[in-house]
Amino acid sequence: AHLDRIAEVDGKINAFLHVAAKSALAQAREVDRRRAAGERLGPLAGVPVAHKDIFTTVDMPTTAGSKILEGWRPPYDATVTRRLREAGLIILGKTNLDEFAMGSSTENSAYGPTRNPWNLDRVPGGSSGGSSAAVAGYEAPLSTGTDTGGSIRQPAAVTGIVGMKPTYGGSSRYGLIAFASSLDTPGPFARSVLDAALLHEAFSGHDPLDSTSIDAPVPPVVEAARRADVAGMRVGVVKEFGGEGTQRGVLNRFQEAVDLLESLGAKVVEVSCPTFETALAAYYLIAPSECSSNLARFDAMRYGLRVGDDGTRSAEEVMALTRAAGFGPEVKRRIMLGTYALSSGYYDAYYGQAQKVRTLVARDFEAAFQQVDVLVSPTTPTTAFPIGERVDDPMAMYLADLFTIPANLAGTAAISVPAGLADEDGLPVGLQIMAPVLGDDRCYRVGAAVEQ
Ligand code: GLN
Repeated sequence: AHLDRIAEVDGKINAFLHVAAKSALAQAREVDRRRAAGERLGPLAGVPVAHKDIFTTVDMPTTAGSKILEGWRPPYDATVTRRLREAGLIILGKTNLDEFAMGSSTENSAYGPTRNPWNLDRVPGGSSGGSSAAVAGYEAPLSTGTDTGGSIRQPAAVTGIVGMKPTYGGSSRYGLIAFASSLDTPGPFARSVLDAALLHEAFSGHDPLDSTSIDAPVPPVVEAARRADVAGMRVGVVKEFGGEGTQRGVLNRFQEAVDLLESLGAKVVEVSCPTFETALAAYYLIAPSECSSNLARFDAMRYGLRVGDDGTRSAEEVMALTRAAGFGPEVKRRIMLGTYALSSGYYDAYYGQAQKVRTLVARDFEAAFQQVDVLVSPTTPTTAFPIGERVDDPMAMYLADLFTIPANLAGTAAISVPAGLADEDGLPVGLQIMAPVLGDDRCYRVGAAVEQ
């Protein structure tokens, strides 16, 4: 049914870069066979999933949305990929994304933008916009994403679905093509909080192949999603988020969600996190710095595209030609920004300062979580914006992640759940629920209580 749906609508939505129809059907039959043979299978066995094309897959191409990896077949599966398979999930195909996960609209993909199923002239968010659109457009019941600065929560919010950024290190980065290694976090998309929790549980947990993986049990996310009560919980409204610059309809739905939490027995207080306002600026030094270092590996020798290798040019010339042809404008912008911020003489002023801000953001979270169990805010300042509106204005594009970035800098857990539709445009609004490191279950507990 999902393959039929993809055939019917994906020409318009462009959520998928690759559809693995044959292998998906073969795997579905295999799950049927095992079940008929009396095998006890997990709760997601046989359920289709759309997989962000930044996780390596041995049996499918992996492009990271970039021309530089066109036609590349990875030699191994990412840990997340392997765990999806082990749980019996059926990978329908690979989903579109901003090139190397850099963007907030999926317009930075080298393979054309994905469209928002709610309104085909709007963006589906990004960078995991193919994954959010696939679930919102009923092309898949579940999908995977990665969240470096908001790339799961922001697309979830603007397509009216659930998206979770687990605690950093709670889900493995092994085989996830790196953008900013100290921030990148795999997480689930679904149409309900419980479904997201089931997928979260299926692919998370300690991985010895990722040196930053946390060696602790996965928080009890499924139990929390089932519990879905907030009586007696302390909820903090982030004072700095949700005022000026935020769309009226977003603020209205957010206020209703807060009122709902109160009526369900939560104790709501306002909490000040003053450094959250500086998080965006720090992020746009830290993330490009790490990107400039990580993307040095695309040297025309090891992977994918190679341009100008006709026997007359040096390796360095071939590398320069390949990178010039293979990377898109946003990726180049970030490599240049990052290289500049890391260069001697500027390192302390830019990268060093940003790292200090990062510590202060983590301290603001720590202080807040002494007073409250979770923090809430709108997920994004606006609903889905029109395709094309922000492509020539990087600053406007970056602002889409204003509310999501603090959780990445601190490595804490955060979810976006649907909070209704904005009055002005009838488009989805997301409620963000943030919890401490390894407090992922709180996001699910509160999210399940208020999801719409
Ligand atoms: N939009 C942010 C950026 O462009 C976040 C991206 C992400 O989380 N991968 O960097």
